Amino acid sequence: MTTPTRESCVELDVKDPLAGFRDDFVIPDGVIYLDGNSLGVLPAHTASRIEHVVTQEWGQGLIRSWNDAGWFDKPRTLGDRVGALVGAGPGQVVVCDSTSINLFKALAAALTLRPDRHAVVGDRDNFPTDLYMMEGATGSHHERRLISADGPTLADVLDEQVAVVVLTQVDYRTGRMYDMAAVTAQVQAAGALMIWDLSHSVGAVPVDLDGCGADFAVGCSYKYLNGGPGAPAFIYVASRHQDAATQPLAGWHGHARPFEFTDSYEPAPGITRFLVGTPPLLSYAGLEASLEIWDRVDMAALRAKSLALTDLFIELVESRVPDHVEVVTPRDHAVRGSQVSLRHEDGYAPMAALIERGVIGDFRAPDLMRFGFTPLYVGYADVWDAVDVLADVLESGVWREARFATRNAVT
Ligand SMILES: *Cc1c(COP(=O)(O)O)cnc(C)c1O
Repeated sequence: MTTPTRESCVELDVKDPLAGFRDDFVIPDGVIYLDGNSLGVLPAHTASRIEHVVTQEWGQGLIRSWNDAGWFDKPRTLGDRVGALVGAGPGQVVVCDSTSINLFKALAAALTLRPDRHAVVGDRDNFPTDLYMMEGATGSHHERRLISADGPTLADVLDEQVAVVVLTQVDYRTGRMYDMAAVTAQVQAAGALMIWDLSHSVGAVPVDLDGCGADFAVGCSYKYLNGGPGAPAFIYVASRHQDAATQPLAGWHGHARPFEFTDSYEPAPGITRFLVGTPPLLSYAGLEASLEIWDRVDMAALRAKSLALTDLFIELVESRVPDHVEVVTPRDHAVRGSQVSLRHEDGYAPMAALIERGVIGDFRAPDLMRFGFTPLYVGYADVWDAVDVLADVLESGVWREARFATRNAVT
């Protein structure tokens, strides 16, 4: 294999079947954005969509828009469209609340389906809110068992006491990916229920929730989906569980007949019972605008480019700065998401130096420089240019300058 050059990368961009999507997004001049795994970029027509919702649907339609503009059904209509991106048939996904809150609802519902079991399993390396929500939703009634990459393994902790297992498919730090079908089958064979967090999967890798027989799933829409800062999250509950599963946040939008205003809660049939209160419609408008792009995306083509971009990044990093960083993301395609993380003795300061030069990734404590690859708007020459800047930052030692040492509140 010949070493890539900038010219060969430009060549790949010319032949890229997804290249046209870049025009659907606003990329600031001078920026190579490798942080779409944390906050996706702005789609080109989001501002006009939100303006329409503000000036027309709200300004002119006023309260009539709950019916006329489909506001009341947005959690379900957008839910079906997000569901299509994660292999969920209609009627199993609603868009609502945050990932943290949806995880709480999924956990509480799953526990009601396994009342005789008193343990829950999580991953020590999971995103903290997932671990915290497990503590919050289970209290002292359940033993919390944590697996990790260094052991114990799932096989070590699964027994007839385990009610629920919560895992994030793609690890937010390392980019390591679980085999969803195999893990789901393993968990269910032990009689437990499986909750998948798809925050780093949706819009990043092909997912087949129905095909895997998953029980519950949750995820964000502001990362790879580009729904906008704080855009509403989603929750999936497999059809077979919907009638038996109840969740404790018994709000009126999850009621069977919300406009009868009765004095007692009765859960709606189907996925609607997982709704809580009034949806933030201005945020839904941002997600709806981005879904107009996602409705046109072929996930197999997206995955192929994602792997090509991450392969290219790894190869260039290893050929140019092997002595400065260690690639911690797996080489094996089967277990790699759409990000690459590099371990560096400092991590924070070199990332700050990269950001100053327009190459935006992020830092994850204690020592990881994290780069997300979003195939709809990142190209091969971008990868080449980003590694070029990285090599300069690391080799020149510029990152040691004092101004890069002060940590911001958000890293
Ligand atoms: C980003 C992320 C979240 C975020 O949860 P919020 O409630 O939106 O703050 C949760 N879980 C995982 C695994 C994430 O990566």
